[in-house]
Amino acid sequence: KINSPLEAYKYLPQTNCGECGEATCMAFASKLIDRSGKTSDCPPLIKEKKFAKKLAELDRLLAPEIRQVTIGVGEKAVNIGGDDVLYRHKLTFFNKTKMFFDVADNMDEAAIVERVNSIANFRKFYVGRNLLLDGVAIRAVSNDPAKFAAAVKKVAEAGLPMIFCSFNPEVLKAGLEVAKDLNPLLYAANKDNWKEVGELALEYKVPVVVSAFNDLDALKTLAKTFAEAGIKDIVLDPGTYPTGKGLKETFTNFLKIRRAGIMGDTEIAYPIIALPFTAWMAGISDPVSASYWETVMASVFTIRYGDIMILHSMEPYSTLPEVHLAETIYTDPRTPVSVDGGMYKVGSPTADSPVLFTTNFALTYYTVESDISSNGIDCWLLAVDTDGIGVEAAVAGGQLTADKVKEAFDKAGFDLKTAVNHNTVVTPGLAARLQGDLEDKLGANVKVGPMDSGRIPGWMEKNWPP
Ligand code: SF4
Repeated sequence: KINSPLEAYKYLPQTNCGECGEATCMAFASKLIDRSGKTSDCPPLIKEKKFAKKLAELDRLLAPEIRQVTIGVGEKAVNIGGDDVLYRHKLTFFNKTKMFFDVADNMDEAAIVERVNSIANFRKFYVGRNLLLDGVAIRAVSNDPAKFAAAVKKVAEAGLPMIFCSFNPEVLKAGLEVAKDLNPLLYAANKDNWKEVGELALEYKVPVVVSAFNDLDALKTLAKTFAEAGIKDIVLDPGTYPTGKGLKETFTNFLKIRRAGIMGDTEIAYPIIALPFTAWMAGISDPVSASYWETVMASVFTIRYGDIMILHSMEPYSTLPEVHLAETIYTDPRTPVSVDGGMYKVGSPTADSPVLFTTNFALTYYTVESDISSNGIDCWLLAVDTDGIGVEAAVAGGQLTADKVKEAFDKAGFDLKTAVNHNTVVTPGLAARLQGDLEDKLGANVKVGPMDSGRIPGWMEKNWPP
């Protein structure tokens, strides 16, 4: 394992040719270490035969502590695992927990299509991006290979990654036959079927879950046996228990597995699957309570250390907290979530419309934008590039100054004297102390807006037109 750019540099061509987009090989080496670049981004290293050995060695040394496993193919394929740290602030977590929702192969075709469509079409707009669900887990409730294959065929039409859920190798094989090139995850090999399921994983070259409920020694032995047989893409299932002592043990198992993997125990350094929807929940007569407990479990194992989950409830009160939590936990602390600096139109602004500014911290920008647009206010909204820092902190830290605001107007090519007919700018209330400086720098009237963008509509009623 290598941890410094200098060590990575030794394996690069050292010609500073710039083909990777970096001025020097040393700059590229830094990108390899923080994993914002891949060895495949260096064309000479990939193409020239003389570097083949170095490339293989470098890839080995840069490999994450926890193996990264890919499920599915094409644009919708998902990666799980691939982490190097136990705590996000020590670097970052690389692959957000992936959420697969189940269908049963004994559902009728129309019901399967309807559920798969809801999974595929789920969208939740959050801080400038759509949060999505990741895939479909097909449960072989029928235990009938033909029925399972028919369900797989139908689900596969949506193009989402799939998990095949059965302990029966014949059922898994039937599914694989109709989805040969789609790289599904097999769930699962256990102490009874490991030989047959292992052979399927090898024959069809697909990732596979090894499962041993509440027995980490058995789990490790299974994973080791599979690895020695040449199966690389392994996912671990230590069992997920929802209540009392069982929940405590499950939580401890997840911690032990991930800690051992990060500390260098390669025999167990694989992603972990959590199954928040359990038989216990299936037995709860009130579906809302079952969904509640499923969401609680999903939250626990999003935080510690579920890399992939099979979930059941598609109710918004379950899916929304699940996708929001995963998005929040997996935000990269090295780069604030930001939008591009520049002038944005909200609605259809004209020369009479107000001109406001805020910072390019995504949460701030989209909150302001949504408070304005949802109230039908047409305006010009300037996002000042403050390196993704919010208004109050940026004013205190010097990232939001009158000079910066002027620079942002100039960069956007927005001349207050000609683009609008009022020569007025509205500053966020939290940046009120810039008012005097802004008037000098911009040569414009500067009005101090409210402290909270939720009050912009009321403020506009009293203060606009100026
Ligand atoms: Fe160096 Fe490769 Fe980048 Fe060229 S493409 S500068 S050889 S790292």
